[in-house]
Amino acid sequence: MDLHGTSIINDKGHLQIGGCDAVDLVSRFGTPLYVVDEALVRLRARQFNEAFQASGLKYQVAYASKAFSVMAMCVIAEQEGLSLDVVSDGELYTALQAGFPAQRIHFHGNNKTIAELDMALHADIGCFVVDNYYELELLNERAALQGKTANILLRITPGVEAHTHDYISTGQADSKFGFDLGNGSAEDAIIRASGYSHLSLLGVHSHIGSQIFEVEGFKLAVEKLSQFAIRMRDQHDIAFTVLNVGGGFGIRYTAEDSPLPVKEYIAAIADAVITNFNSAKYDIPEIWIEPGRSMVGDAGTTLYTVGSTKDIPGVRKYVAVDGGMTDNPRPALYQSKYHAILANRATDSNEETVSIAGKCCESGDMLIWDLELPKVNAGDVLAVFSTGAYNYAMASNYNRIRRPAVVFVKDGEADVVVERESLQQITCNDVVPARLQKTSLAK
Ligand code: PLP
Repeated sequence: MDLHGTSIINDKGHLQIGGCDAVDLVSRFGTPLYVVDEALVRLRARQFNEAFQASGLKYQVAYASKAFSVMAMCVIAEQEGLSLDVVSDGELYTALQAGFPAQRIHFHGNNKTIAELDMALHADIGCFVVDNYYELELLNERAALQGKTANILLRITPGVEAHTHDYISTGQADSKFGFDLGNGSAEDAIIRASGYSHLSLLGVHSHIGSQIFEVEGFKLAVEKLSQFAIRMRDQHDIAFTVLNVGGGFGIRYTAEDSPLPVKEYIAAIADAVITNFNSAKYDIPEIWIEPGRSMVGDAGTTLYTVGSTKDIPGVRKYVAVDGGMTDNPRPALYQSKYHAILANRATDSNEETVSIAGKCCESGDMLIWDLELPKVNAGDVLAVFSTGAYNYAMASNYNRIRRPAVVFVKDGEADVVVERESLQQITCNDVVPARLQKTSLAK
Protein backbone atom coordinates (compact mmCIF):
# COMPACT_ATOMS: atom_id res chain seq x y z
CA MET A 1 0.00 0.00 0.00
CA ASP A 2 1.23 3.53 -0.77
CA LEU A 3 2.60 5.52 2.13
CA HIS A 4 0.90 8.74 3.22
CA GLY A 5 2.15 12.33 2.91
CA THR A 6 5.89 12.76 3.40
CA SER A 7 6.41 9.18 4.61
CA ILE A 8 9.06 7.15 2.77
CA ILE A 9 11.23 4.11 3.41
CA ASN A 10 14.78 5.42 3.87
CA ASP A 11 18.20 3.91 2.98
CA LYS A 12 18.28 2.02 6.27
CA GLY A 13 15.02 0.31 5.40
CA HIS A 14 13.25 2.33 8.10
CA LEU A 15 9.98 4.21 7.87
CA GLN A 16 10.67 7.92 7.77
CA ILE A 17 7.98 10.55 8.40
CA GLY A 18 8.49 14.27 7.91
CA GLY A 19 12.18 13.63 7.37
CA CYS A 20 12.48 11.82 10.74
CA ASP A 21 13.54 8.17 11.00
CA ALA A 22 10.85 6.30 12.96
CA VAL A 23 13.47 4.23 14.79
CA ASP A 24 15.20 7.43 15.96
CA LEU A 25 11.84 8.85 17.06
CA VAL A 26 11.29 5.73 19.17
CA SER A 27 14.69 6.00 20.83
CA ARG A 28 14.14 9.71 21.56
CA PHE A 29 10.50 9.65 22.68
CA GLY A 30 9.62 6.02 23.50
CA THR A 31 6.49 4.11 22.54
CA PRO A 32 3.60 4.14 22.05
CA LEU A 33 4.09 7.38 20.17
CA TYR A 34 1.69 9.34 18.00
CA VAL A 35 3.60 10.93 15.13
CA VAL A 36 1.89 13.65 13.09
CA ASP A 37 3.12 14.63 9.63
CA GLU A 38 2.67 18.40 9.90
CA ALA A 39 3.20 19.02 6.17
CA LEU A 40 0.34 16.67 5.34
CA VAL A 41 -2.03 18.43 7.75
CA ARG A 42 -1.13 21.78 6.18
CA LEU A 43 -1.54 20.32 2.70
CA ARG A 44 -5.06 19.12 3.51
CA ALA A 45 -6.00 22.53 4.93
CA ARG A 46 -4.72 24.17 1.74
CA GLN A 47 -6.55 21.69 -0.47
CA PHE A 48 -9.85 22.58 1.20
CA ASN A 49 -9.15 26.31 0.96
CA GLU A 50 -8.01 26.14 -2.67
CA ALA A 51 -11.03 24.08 -3.69
CA PHE A 52 -13.35 26.71 -2.23
CA GLN A 53 -11.36 29.56 -3.75
CA ALA A 54 -11.78 27.88 -7.14
CA SER A 55 -15.56 27.78 -6.62
CA GLY A 56 -15.77 31.54 -6.06
CA LEU A 57 -18.13 31.02 -3.10
CA LYS A 58 -17.80 32.70 0.28
CA TYR A 59 -16.83 29.96 2.70
CA GLN A 60 -15.37 28.83 6.01
CA VAL A 61 -13.51 25.57 6.50
CA ALA A 62 -14.01 24.79 10.19
CA TYR A 63 -11.67 22.07 11.39
CA ALA A 64 -13.72 19.69 13.58
CA SER A 65 -11.35 19.69 16.52
CA LYS A 66 -13.04 16.62 18.07
CA ALA A 67 -10.84 14.61 15.67
CA PHE A 68 -7.66 15.79 17.41
CA SER A 69 -7.83 18.69 19.81
CA VAL A 70 -4.48 19.88 21.11
CA MET A 71 -3.10 23.40 21.27
CA ALA A 72 -0.46 22.88 18.56
CA MET A 73 -3.15 21.68 16.16
CA CYS A 74 -5.24 24.77 16.90
CA VAL A 75 -2.21 26.93 16.11
CA ILE A 76 -1.81 25.19 12.75
CA ALA A 77 -5.52 25.59 12.05
CA GLU A 78 -5.21 29.31 12.76
CA GLN A 79 -2.09 29.67 10.60
CA GLU A 80 -3.84 27.91 7.71
CA GLY A 81 -6.84 30.24 7.94
CA LEU A 82 -9.28 27.60 9.17
CA SER A 83 -12.18 28.12 11.51
CA LEU A 84 -12.71 25.69 14.38
CA ASP A 85 -15.58 23.55 15.52
CA VAL A 86 -15.65 22.68 19.24
CA VAL A 87 -18.09 20.54 21.21
CA SER A 88 -17.19 21.05 24.84
CA ASP A 89 -15.68 23.50 27.28
CA GLY A 90 -12.48 21.44 27.09
CA GLU A 91 -12.16 21.85 23.32
CA LEU A 92 -13.12 25.52 23.59
CA TYR A 93 -10.54 26.05 26.35
CA THR A 94 -7.86 24.30 24.27
CA ALA A 95 -8.59 26.60 21.32
CA LEU A 96 -8.61 29.76 23.43
CA GLN A 97 -5.43 28.77 25.26
CA ALA A 98 -3.79 28.31 21.86
CA GLY A 99 -4.78 31.87 20.98
CA PHE A 100 -7.31 30.78 18.35
CA PRO A 101 -9.49 33.77 17.36
CA ALA A 102 -12.84 33.34 19.11
CA GLN A 103 -14.78 34.82 16.22
CA ARG A 104 -13.80 31.80 14.08
CA ILE A 105 -15.00 29.25 16.66
CA HIS A 106 -18.31 27.41 16.21
CA PHE A 107 -19.79 25.58 19.19
CA HIS A 108 -21.59 22.28 18.59
CA GLY A 109 -23.26 19.74 20.84
CA ASN A 110 -26.66 18.36 21.73
CA ASN A 111 -26.44 19.21 25.43
CA LYS A 112 -24.29 22.24 26.04
CA THR A 113 -24.32 23.13 29.71
CA ILE A 114 -25.13 26.56 31.11
CA ALA A 115 -21.48 26.92 32.10
CA GLU A 116 -20.37 26.06 28.56
CA LEU A 117 -22.80 28.54 26.98
CA ASP A 118 -21.67 31.25 29.42
CA MET A 119 -18.01 30.55 28.73
CA ALA A 120 -18.53 30.69 24.97
CA LEU A 121 -20.64 33.85 25.17
CA HIS A 122 -18.06 35.46 27.38
CA ALA A 123 -15.35 34.62 24.83
CA ASP A 124 -17.50 36.09 22.02
CA ILE A 125 -17.27 33.02 19.79
CA GLY A 126 -18.47 33.31 16.21
CA CYS A 127 -21.44 30.96 16.19
CA PHE A 128 -23.46 28.42 18.16
CA VAL A 129 -24.88 25.45 16.29
CA VAL A 130 -28.12 25.09 18.22
CA ASP A 131 -29.37 21.54 18.46
CA ASN A 132 -32.77 21.68 20.22
CA TYR A 133 -35.55 23.86 21.68
CA TYR A 134 -34.10 23.70 25.18
CA GLU A 135 -30.85 25.20 23.95
CA LEU A 136 -32.61 27.91 21.90
CA GLU A 137 -34.42 29.17 24.98
CA LEU A 138 -31.41 28.80 27.25
CA LEU A 139 -28.93 30.46 24.90
CA ASN A 140 -31.27 33.41 24.41
CA GLU A 141 -31.57 33.79 28.20
CA ARG A 142 -27.83 33.49 28.84
CA ALA A 143 -26.99 35.89 26.00
CA ALA A 144 -29.48 38.40 27.44
CA LEU A 145 -27.76 38.17 30.83
CA GLN A 146 -24.45 39.13 29.20
CA GLY A 147 -26.15 41.80 27.08
CA LYS A 148 -25.12 40.04 23.88
CA THR A 149 -26.64 38.66 20.70
CA ALA A 150 -25.40 35.21 19.71
CA ASN A 151 -25.05 34.13 16.09
CA ILE A 152 -26.70 30.78 15.58
CA LEU A 153 -27.20 28.03 13.03
CA LEU A 154 -29.87 25.41 13.64
CA ARG A 155 -28.76 21.82 13.28
CA ILE A 156 -31.13 20.05 10.91
CA THR A 157 -31.43 16.32 10.20
CA PRO A 158 -32.13 16.50 6.49
CA GLY A 159 -33.14 12.89 5.94
CA VAL A 160 -29.89 11.91 4.23
CA GLU A 161 -27.56 9.46 5.88
CA ALA A 162 -24.24 8.65 4.28
CA HIS A 163 -21.55 6.21 5.21
CA THR A 164 -18.66 5.16 3.01
CA HIS A 165 -20.21 4.05 -0.30
CA ASP A 166 -23.82 3.99 0.81
CA TYR A 167 -26.07 6.89 1.22
CA ILE A 168 -29.69 6.58 2.00
CA SER A 169 -32.49 9.03 1.98
CA THR A 170 -34.39 8.40 5.18
CA GLY A 171 -36.89 10.05 7.44
CA GLN A 172 -34.10 9.85 10.02
CA ALA A 173 -36.42 11.13 12.74
CA ASP A 174 -34.65 8.73 15.12
CA SER A 175 -31.50 10.75 15.80
CA LYS A 176 -30.37 12.41 19.00
CA PHE A 177 -29.17 15.42 17.00
CA GLY A 178 -30.99 18.38 15.60
CA PHE A 179 -34.38 19.37 14.27
CA ASP A 180 -36.03 17.02 11.82
CA LEU A 181 -36.74 18.34 8.37
CA GLY A 182 -39.33 15.71 7.54
CA ASN A 183 -41.70 16.14 10.50
CA GLY A 184 -41.89 19.93 10.47
CA SER A 185 -39.81 20.58 13.57
CA ALA A 186 -37.05 22.28 11.54
CA GLU A 187 -39.55 24.78 10.14
CA ASP A 188 -41.08 25.41 13.53
CA ALA A 189 -37.63 25.93 15.09
CA ILE A 190 -36.60 28.40 12.39
CA ILE A 191 -39.71 30.49 13.02
CA ARG A 192 -39.15 30.43 16.76
CA ALA A 193 -35.40 31.10 16.46
CA SER A 194 -35.96 34.22 14.39
CA GLY A 195 -38.21 35.61 17.11
CA TYR A 196 -35.64 35.65 19.93
CA SER A 197 -34.19 39.06 20.72
CA HIS A 198 -30.72 37.83 21.73
CA LEU A 199 -30.19 35.36 18.90
CA SER A 200 -29.25 36.13 15.33
CA LEU A 201 -30.17 33.31 12.97
CA LEU A 202 -27.56 32.86 10.22
CA GLY A 203 -28.87 29.63 8.69
CA VAL A 204 -28.78 25.87 9.06
CA HIS A 205 -26.32 23.03 9.55
CA SER A 206 -26.35 19.36 8.66
CA HIS A 207 -23.84 16.53 9.06
CA ILE A 208 -24.75 13.42 7.12
CA GLY A 209 -22.18 10.87 8.27
CA SER A 210 -18.55 9.82 8.26
CA GLN A 211 -15.95 8.20 6.00
CA ILE A 212 -17.94 9.20 2.92
CA PHE A 213 -16.40 8.22 -0.43
CA GLU A 214 -19.09 9.53 -2.79
CA VAL A 215 -20.48 12.98 -3.54
CA GLU A 216 -24.13 11.97 -3.96
CA GLY A 217 -25.00 12.21 -0.28
CA PHE A 218 -23.60 15.75 -0.04
CA LYS A 219 -25.44 16.80 -3.20
CA LEU A 220 -28.69 15.45 -1.88
CA ALA A 221 -28.21 17.17 1.50
CA VAL A 222 -27.46 20.50 -0.21
CA GLU A 223 -30.55 20.09 -2.36
CA LYS A 224 -32.75 19.43 0.68
CA LEU A 225 -31.25 22.29 2.70
CA SER A 226 -31.52 24.75 -0.17
CA GLN A 227 -35.14 23.81 -0.89
CA PHE A 228 -35.81 24.35 2.80
CA ALA A 229 -34.04 27.74 2.71
CA ILE A 230 -36.08 28.81 -0.30
CA ARG A 231 -39.32 27.73 1.36
CA MET A 232 -38.42 29.64 4.55
CA ARG A 233 -37.80 32.76 2.46
CA ASP A 234 -40.96 32.41 0.40
CA GLN A 235 -43.33 31.46 3.21
CA HIS A 236 -41.85 33.24 6.25
CA ASP A 237 -39.57 35.92 4.83
CA ILE A 238 -36.59 34.43 6.67
CA ALA A 239 -33.33 34.42 4.68
CA PHE A 240 -30.25 32.31 5.42
CA THR A 241 -26.78 33.77 4.98
CA VAL A 242 -24.94 30.57 5.95
CA LEU A 243 -25.30 26.92 5.01
CA ASN A 244 -23.10 24.44 6.89
CA VAL A 245 -22.87 20.97 5.34
CA GLY A 246 -20.73 19.39 8.07
CA GLY A 247 -17.83 16.96 7.70
CA GLY A 248 -17.49 13.31 6.85
CA PHE A 249 -15.01 13.35 3.95
CA GLY A 250 -13.38 9.92 3.76
CA ILE A 251 -9.72 8.95 4.16
CA ARG A 252 -7.59 5.89 3.38
CA TYR A 253 -7.06 3.60 6.35
CA THR A 254 -6.37 0.46 4.33
CA ALA A 255 -6.02 -0.42 0.66
CA GLU A 256 -9.79 -1.10 0.62
CA ASP A 257 -10.51 2.63 1.04
CA SER A 258 -10.66 4.91 -1.97
CA PRO A 259 -11.49 8.47 -0.91
CA LEU A 260 -12.01 11.17 -3.50
CA PRO A 261 -9.58 14.07 -3.80
CA VAL A 262 -10.70 16.94 -1.54
CA LYS A 263 -11.41 19.16 -4.54
CA GLU A 264 -13.99 16.72 -5.90
CA TYR A 265 -16.09 16.78 -2.73
CA ILE A 266 -15.95 20.58 -2.60
CA ALA A 267 -16.66 21.05 -6.32
CA ALA A 268 -19.76 18.84 -6.01
CA ILE A 269 -21.00 20.74 -2.95
CA ALA A 270 -20.31 24.11 -4.59
CA ASP A 271 -22.06 23.11 -7.84
CA ALA A 272 -25.10 21.89 -5.96
CA VAL A 273 -25.24 25.13 -3.94
CA ILE A 274 -24.90 27.34 -6.99
CA THR A 275 -27.47 25.42 -9.04
CA ASN A 276 -30.08 25.25 -6.30
CA PHE A 277 -29.84 28.85 -5.08
CA ASN A 278 -29.42 30.46 -8.51
CA SER A 279 -32.51 28.75 -9.82
CA ALA A 280 -34.49 30.39 -7.01
CA LYS A 281 -32.77 33.79 -7.40
CA TYR A 282 -31.57 33.46 -3.82
CA ASP A 283 -28.37 35.25 -2.75
CA ILE A 284 -25.94 32.37 -2.38
CA PRO A 285 -25.20 31.86 1.31
CA GLU A 286 -21.70 31.46 2.70
CA ILE A 287 -20.84 27.74 2.72
CA TRP A 288 -19.25 26.23 5.81
CA ILE A 289 -17.85 22.72 6.16
CA GLU A 290 -16.42 20.84 9.15
CA PRO A 291 -13.76 18.31 8.13
CA GLY A 292 -12.17 16.42 11.04
CA ARG A 293 -10.83 13.05 9.96
CA SER A 294 -9.85 14.30 6.48
CA MET A 295 -7.75 17.10 7.97
CA VAL A 296 -5.60 14.99 10.30
CA GLY A 297 -6.45 11.29 9.92
CA ASP A 298 -3.87 10.06 7.45
CA ALA A 299 -1.24 12.45 8.82
CA GLY A 300 -1.03 10.38 12.01
CA THR A 301 1.03 7.22 12.56
CA THR A 302 1.31 5.38 15.87
CA LEU A 303 4.60 3.67 16.68
CA TYR A 304 4.53 0.72 19.09
CA THR A 305 7.16 -1.68 20.41
CA VAL A 306 6.39 -5.35 19.89
CA GLY A 307 6.51 -7.49 23.04
CA SER A 308 5.04 -10.93 23.61
CA THR A 309 3.60 -13.25 20.98
CA LYS A 310 1.23 -16.17 21.29
CA ASP A 311 1.20 -18.69 18.49
CA ILE A 312 -1.78 -21.07 18.50
CA PRO A 313 -0.90 -23.62 15.79
CA GLY A 314 -3.59 -23.87 13.16
CA VAL A 315 -5.54 -21.02 14.72
CA ARG A 316 -3.71 -17.69 14.83
CA LYS A 317 -0.60 -15.87 15.96
CA TYR A 318 -1.13 -12.95 18.31
CA VAL A 319 1.54 -10.25 18.43
CA ALA A 320 1.15 -7.88 21.37
CA VAL A 321 2.25 -4.24 21.38
CA ASP A 322 2.76 -1.80 24.24
CA GLY A 323 -0.50 0.09 23.61
CA GLY A 324 -3.92 -0.86 22.27
CA MET A 325 -7.49 0.21 22.91
CA THR A 326 -6.28 2.89 25.32
CA ASP A 327 -4.56 4.83 22.54
CA ASN A 328 -6.82 3.61 19.70
CA PRO A 329 -10.29 2.45 20.78
CA ARG A 330 -11.72 2.55 17.23
CA PRO A 331 -11.16 -1.12 16.29
CA ALA A 332 -12.84 -2.23 19.54
CA LEU A 333 -15.65 0.31 19.20
CA TYR A 334 -16.42 0.16 15.49
CA GLN A 335 -14.39 -2.73 14.09
CA SER A 336 -12.35 -0.10 12.27
CA LYS A 337 -9.58 -1.44 10.08
CA TYR A 338 -5.98 -0.25 10.05
CA HIS A 339 -2.83 -1.07 8.12
CA ALA A 340 0.63 -1.41 9.65
CA ILE A 341 4.24 -2.25 8.79
CA LEU A 342 7.41 -2.94 10.73
CA ALA A 343 9.02 0.50 10.82
CA ASN A 344 12.48 -0.87 11.61
CA ARG A 345 12.44 -3.52 8.84
CA ALA A 346 10.22 -1.93 6.24
CA THR A 347 11.98 -3.55 3.28
CA ASP A 348 11.87 -7.13 4.64
CA SER A 349 9.47 -9.43 2.82
CA ASN A 350 6.26 -10.48 4.48
CA GLU A 351 6.45 -13.99 5.88
CA GLU A 352 3.57 -14.44 8.26
CA THR A 353 0.01 -13.45 8.99
CA VAL A 354 -0.42 -12.15 12.52
CA SER A 355 -3.05 -10.34 14.56
CA ILE A 356 -2.01 -7.30 16.55
CA ALA A 357 -3.22 -7.32 20.14
CA GLY A 358 -3.14 -4.53 22.67
CA LYS A 359 -1.99 -4.91 26.27
CA CYS A 360 -5.29 -4.18 27.99
CA CYS A 361 -7.17 -6.66 30.08
CA GLU A 362 -9.92 -7.10 27.53
CA SER A 363 -10.21 -9.75 24.79
CA GLY A 364 -11.68 -7.12 22.47
CA ASP A 365 -8.45 -5.15 22.70
CA MET A 366 -7.25 -5.98 19.19
CA LEU A 367 -5.80 -3.38 16.82
CA ILE A 368 -5.53 -5.34 13.56
CA TRP A 369 -6.70 -8.80 12.52
CA ASP A 370 -4.76 -10.84 9.95
CA LEU A 371 -1.92 -8.55 8.98
CA GLU A 372 0.88 -9.68 6.66
CA LEU A 373 4.28 -8.92 8.18
CA PRO A 374 7.90 -10.09 8.05
CA LYS A 375 8.76 -12.55 10.85
CA VAL A 376 8.08 -10.41 13.93
CA ASN A 377 10.45 -10.28 16.90
CA ALA A 378 10.16 -8.69 20.31
CA GLY A 379 11.60 -5.19 20.08
CA ASP A 380 10.41 -4.57 16.52
CA VAL A 381 8.67 -1.24 15.91
CA LEU A 382 5.17 -1.51 14.53
CA ALA A 383 3.85 1.56 12.68
CA VAL A 384 0.06 1.74 12.42
CA PHE A 385 -1.07 4.26 9.79
CA SER A 386 -3.90 6.80 9.64
CA THR A 387 -4.23 7.21 13.39
CA GLY A 388 -4.34 11.02 13.38
CA ALA A 389 -8.09 11.36 13.95
CA TYR A 390 -10.15 10.02 16.87
CA ASN A 391 -7.15 8.21 18.41
CA TYR A 392 -5.44 10.63 20.80
CA ALA A 393 -8.84 12.36 21.02
CA MET A 394 -10.51 9.14 22.21
CA ALA A 395 -7.61 7.78 24.27
CA SER A 396 -8.31 6.65 27.82
CA ASN A 397 -6.48 5.56 30.94
CA TYR A 398 -8.15 2.14 31.09
CA ASN A 399 -5.99 -0.18 33.19
CA ARG A 400 -4.36 3.06 34.31
CA ILE A 401 -2.26 2.99 31.18
CA ARG A 402 -0.65 6.35 30.52
CA ARG A 403 -1.61 8.26 27.39
CA PRO A 404 1.24 8.42 24.84
CA ALA A 405 3.15 11.49 23.76
CA VAL A 406 2.37 13.24 20.47
CA VAL A 407 5.15 14.59 18.26
CA PHE A 408 4.83 16.77 15.17
CA VAL A 409 7.47 16.02 12.53
CA LYS A 410 8.45 18.31 9.67
CA ASP A 411 11.59 18.71 7.55
CA GLY A 412 13.63 16.43 9.81
CA GLU A 413 12.56 18.13 13.05
CA ALA A 414 10.47 16.43 15.71
CA ASP A 415 8.70 18.43 18.41
CA VAL A 416 6.66 17.14 21.30
CA VAL A 417 3.20 18.74 21.24
CA VAL A 418 1.76 16.57 24.02
CA GLU A 419 4.00 15.10 26.69
CA ARG A 420 3.67 11.44 27.61
CA GLU A 421 1.59 11.15 30.78
CA SER A 422 3.59 10.44 33.90
CA LEU A 423 2.80 7.94 36.66
CA GLN A 424 2.26 10.92 38.98
CA GLN A 425 -0.46 12.20 36.63
CA ILE A 426 -2.21 8.86 36.92
CA THR A 427 -2.99 9.45 40.60
CA CYS A 428 -2.97 13.23 40.68
CA ASN A 429 -6.78 13.51 40.93
CA ASP A 430 -7.14 10.64 43.39
CA VAL A 431 -8.09 11.51 46.94
CA VAL A 432 -7.98 9.14 49.88
CA PRO A 433 -10.44 10.65 52.39
CA ALA A 434 -9.12 11.14 55.91
CA ARG A 435 -11.60 8.65 57.39
CA LEU A 436 -10.11 5.91 55.23
CA GLN A 437 -6.66 6.71 56.53
CA LYS A 438 -7.59 6.46 60.24
CA THR A 439 -7.79 2.74 60.73
CA SER A 440 -6.49 -0.34 59.07
CA LEU A 441 -8.50 -3.56 59.09
CA ALA A 442 -5.37 -5.54 58.41
CA LYS A 443 -4.15 -7.26 61.58
N1 PLP B 1 -19.35 17.93 12.24
C1 PLP B 1 -20.15 17.22 13.04
C2 PLP B 1 -21.42 17.82 13.50
C3 PLP B 1 -19.80 15.93 13.45
O1 PLP B 1 -20.60 15.23 14.24
C4 PLP B 1 -18.55 15.39 12.99
C5 PLP B 1 -18.14 14.05 13.41
O2 PLP B 1 -18.71 13.35 14.17
C6 PLP B 1 -17.74 16.17 12.18
C7 PLP B 1 -18.16 17.43 11.80
C8 PLP B 1 -16.42 15.67 11.67
O3 PLP B 1 -16.58 14.54 10.90
P1 PLP B 1 -15.34 13.89 10.14
O4 PLP B 1 -14.25 13.73 11.14
O5 PLP B 1 -15.86 12.58 9.65
O6 PLP B 1 -14.97 14.84 9.06
